[in-house]
Amino acid sequence: MTVNLKDLASSAQERICFDYTIDLSAEEVNFERPFPKPVRVAGQVSGESGMIRLEAQIEAEVHTRCARCARPVVYEKKVPVDFFLVSGAKGSEESDDLIAVEGDEVELDDIAVPELLLDMEMAVLCREDCKGLCPHCGKDLNEGPCGCEPRQIDPRLEALKKLLPPE
Ligand SMILES: [Zn+2]
Ligand SMILES: [Zn+2]
Repeated sequence: MTVNLKDLASSAQERICFDYTIDLSAEEVNFERPFPKPVRVAGQVSGESGMIRLEAQIEAEVHTRCARCARPVVYEKKVPVDFFLVSGAKGSEESDDLIAVEGDEVELDDIAVPELLLDMEMAVLCREDCKGLCPHCGKDLNEGPCGCEPRQIDPRLEALKKLLPPE
């Protein structure tokens, strides 16, 4: 969504509120597409002590898989956004909460989408104490123990052992 900052400069409006959704269903994160549902962006742009402030909240339903057992995990994610928008020249001052704007228009997607993606967790667990999968038989150990020996020797190592001279 595009916000025109000229509207803000006119005395008629002190703030511009927005509440819209972005389709990120094709967006890939960590080789998955975690946003099958539209991502909501809601907030406002307002004039504040001669500057323009963008405050918003990004709300996404994240669909991913447990990093240990690969079960589907769905969770709600909220990312707060709070920036001051400044026109070109001033924006060259490096600062985390300043965003340089060219002209009078601000494309909110260009700000919101990177903020959401930067905030994505690299690994999510279905629960804190997920036991994961057995490395030998692949059984989900959350459902109970498998029949594997606790310290099974890799069959490739077993073959190597036979090559060693007897002790
Ligand atoms: Zn898990
Ligand atoms: Zn096993």
